[in-house]
This record gives sequence, C-alpha cells and structure tokens, in this order.
Amino acid sequence: MSVQIPFDNTYARLPERFFSRTDPTPVRAPRLIRLNTELARHLGIDPDALTTDEAAEIFAGNRIPTGAEPIATAYAGHQFGSWVPQLGDGRAILLGEVVDRCGVRRDVQLKGSGRTPFSRMGDGRAALGPVLREYVVSEAMAALGIPTTRALAAVTTGEPVMREQVLPGAILTRVAASHIRVGTFEFFANRGDTEAVRLLADHVIARHYPAAGDAERPYRALLDAVIRAQAELIARWMLVGFIHGVMNTDNMSIAGETIDYGPCAFMVEYDPATTFSSIDRWGRYAYGSQPGIGQWNLARLAECMLPLLDDDTDAAIEEATDALGAYASHYERAYHAGLRRKLGLGTDREGDAELAQDLLNAMHDNRTDLTLTFRRLSDAAAGPEHDEPVRSLFMEPEAYDRWAERWRRRLEQEPTAPAERRDAMRGVNPAYVPRNHRVEAMIRAAVDRDDFAPFEELLAVLSRPFDDRPEFARYAEPPDPHERVLETFCGT
Ligand code: AMP
Ligand code: MG
Repeated sequence: MSVQIPFDNTYARLPERFFSRTDPTPVRAPRLIRLNTELARHLGIDPDALTTDEAAEIFAGNRIPTGAEPIATAYAGHQFGSWVPQLGDGRAILLGEVVDRCGVRRDVQLKGSGRTPFSRMGDGRAALGPVLREYVVSEAMAALGIPTTRALAAVTTGEPVMREQVLPGAILTRVAASHIRVGTFEFFANRGDTEAVRLLADHVIARHYPAAGDAERPYRALLDAVIRAQAELIARWMLVGFIHGVMNTDNMSIAGETIDYGPCAFMVEYDPATTFSSIDRWGRYAYGSQPGIGQWNLARLAECMLPLLDDDTDAAIEEATDALGAYASHYERAYHAGLRRKLGLGTDREGDAELAQDLLNAMHDNRTDLTLTFRRLSDAAAGPEHDEPVRSLFMEPEAYDRWAERWRRRLEQEPTAPAERRDAMRGVNPAYVPRNHRVEAMIRAAVDRDDFAPFEELLAVLSRPFDDRPEFARYAEPPDPHERVLETFCGT
C-alpha cells in the first residue's frame, strides 16, 4: 500500500473494559466524495500518495491501514436529562491516533462504519445527509476559529440505509482532539469502577491538560480546566448563534471541542428561545439554555470525579461545588469579551454589558437576523453614513437609531480609528455561517440528484467566513420565506 498514516495509539493501550476491538464492516461500493487534503497534510498523511480508490477503500473501512487498531469506545450518558448506563460507539470506530504537525494528538474515527457491540437496536450506519451536514458545519466552525472536531473525508457506501425512508449510506471520517466525553467518565463512575475513573482522568490530563498534572491537586485542576474549556466553548457558540441541538452528556467532549453534530443549526432571527431539533420537544437545548445546560453537564462530570477529589465525601463535594462555582464567571467573561469585540469595543468599561444586552433585546423585538446585524454593524462602525443597511433590518428602525446613538458615544472613548475599528469588527462578525436553508439545499442536491457541486461551493464559501466575496453574496442572505428551515432532524 502506498499511503502511510502515522498512527501512534494510546487509548487502545488502556484496559480492555474501556472499549471493544471491532473492525469496520466493509461496504459494497465505496466512492470518495471528498478528502480534506489540507487537514490530511496537517496530520502527516500525504494526500498525493493516495489514489481516489484507495482513499475510498480506507475511509469506507474496507481496508484497515497499517498501524490502525480499530476500537469502539464505551460510554454512558444523560440523554435529555435521563440516565442511560450504556451507550458507546454504536456506529463509530476509532481507527487510531496520529500526532499532527503542531504536536497535538488527534483521533481518526470512522462514523457510520457498521455495527459494534454498542449498537443496541441500530444498524451502525449513517445517512448521506447527516454526514454532509457534519462535514460542512464542523469545517465552518473550524474556519470561525471555534474548537471543533474536523472532517477528514466523506464517502458514500453504495448501500441504502433504512430510516423513515430509504437513504443513501455514507461514512464520515472525523478527527478530534479525542472522543472522550463526560459520558465516558459516567460509564465507569456509575459502575463504581473508581480505578477506571482514575485511569481515564490520568489519560485526559496527559493528553489534554498537562498543566493540571503539575498542579498541587491534579484532579481538581483537571476539573477546573474542563469547566473553563466548556464555558469558553459555549460562549463562542452563543456569539455566532450556534445551536448544538443535542447537548447530552455523551455529546460533550472533555477536550472542549464541539462534537457530535446532529440536528444542529445556526440561529436566523435573534430569539433566545430558538430550537430547531425535531427531538427537542421541550426546548431543553434551546439557544438561550445552552450555557445553563453546559453547567448541568459539568455537574455530572464533577459527581463522577468525587472519589478522586477527596477521600472524605463531604470534602469532595465541597471541592466539586467550588469548582462548578467558577463556571458562570468563566462563561460571562468569555461571552462579554466576545460581545465587546463584536461591538468594536477594545477596552472594558462599565455599562458595556448593558449596551450589548440592549442591542440584543432590540434585535429580538425587531426579529433581526443575528449574523447580518453584526456584519452590517461592523460597517456602521466607520461612521453614521453607513447606518442604513443595518438600521433597515429593524422592523422599527428608530429602535436601532436610539441604540446606535449610545453606541457611538461609547465608541468615542475608544482609542482606535473608525476604519480600524470596522476592520476589527469584520474579523469577528462573520459574513458567512452555514445557514440552515443552504445546508438543506446542499443535502437535497446530493441526496436527490447525486449533485455534490453545492456541497463543494458551500465548503468554499464557509472556509473564509470573514471575507466578503461578491460572487458569494447570496450566501450571506437570510432565507426567503419559502426557504425557511423550521426543524432539523438527527437522521440517525
Ligand atoms: P447520537 O445521538 O448520534 O449522539 O447517538 C447516541 C447513541 O446512539 C450513541 O451511542 C450512538 O453510537 C448510538 N447510535 C446512533 N445512531 C446509531 C446507529 N445508526 N446505529 C447504532 N448506534 C447508533
Ligand atoms: Mg453522540
């Protein structure tokens, strides 16, 4: 075989109860949709040494590359608040780990690669639509600078999958700092397997939070670090209007990356109560609930870690409570710093949070598009003669005028020049996000017409979210009424 993937596996060295050694199930007619050549190079894989057929075989699981040690990992989780003692990789298989060009260890995982001992009633497969959605949205998040798993490859399998209808099957190759979840800790803690919880914590410290290993109390430092990473991640989501959709504890990465893109969506009109997911009937994972849910999930993690925090249960609970108490301030700090940047405020002054909140309230009252409002506000930062494009987004434009007057007074206290401020704002307020109607149209073209041109174009647009490109101007526009996406589906 011509291609080498420089595997260097560590999770597979953990005790056997952490996973099950399972090979992918070969598929009938693998076809490569896309290989992320830039990411491949970053992982030390030479894409030029890989023929299209060879790539299709490898990323379909038909050929196991040298050095891979395929495993399905064990985890549990709270799904919509309900405890499920065993979930695990029911349709994903970890091929192994590689150390990337920045020295960061990354998992390479096939998703949709066939049944495993954790499949329960499922077929172990994935449909093309959700694979393309995860590919596009995860790559868009990466381009926005938000911690996320990445997409290395997508293939179709040549086999149908049975969902509510018959759909083409596909497999996504996903790259992550790791696939260790809050639910991985829960799996062992629930079984009273403190030794495994400790081994897992040690593995996570070595892999993701080495500074915690040097701390006086490493496990407390680990918990603090995960809490901070999650708080900062969710703040980043909120600032771009990302709605994860299924923030179950098994979908929450210990490394602080966005993971498990299911019925995720980007908010259109600003409204904290927004949900899209068809399976989120009660709005548990609504946009505005995400920060609170993050804390709830971290409380589940802290419970798992109690035996590591102190031998005395009361003292351990005190430690955990103390650690969780920092979540809100980490979140608020990250969120408000982000909002200040979105408003062009380089300095931190009293009243800034209120100013930002008043804009959000006016946006909510006036049903303005989140992405477009901040993008156009960036141009308005150059001077009031550029106000019209943003003010016309408001049903009552005077609501914008009243707010903008206060904003301009505040901007006068900034040392930066207007043009410089505008450019800085354009660097944090994206022109392009994966708008739901574009994602749906891309999926329809691929699934119904075997047309992958919209997929390629969407990836091209979203790879540079902060650069206006006139040829792609339509991708910055909100949906027409008939294009609106009201609901997104898991598709599992
Ligand atoms: P998800 O909602 O995709 O995060 O998945 C929740 C759980 O269901 C995980 O344990 C998955 O491995 C499992 N699962 C989802 N879809 C399938 C499938 N088609 N076959 C087997 N297991 C699945
Ligand atoms: Mg999941």
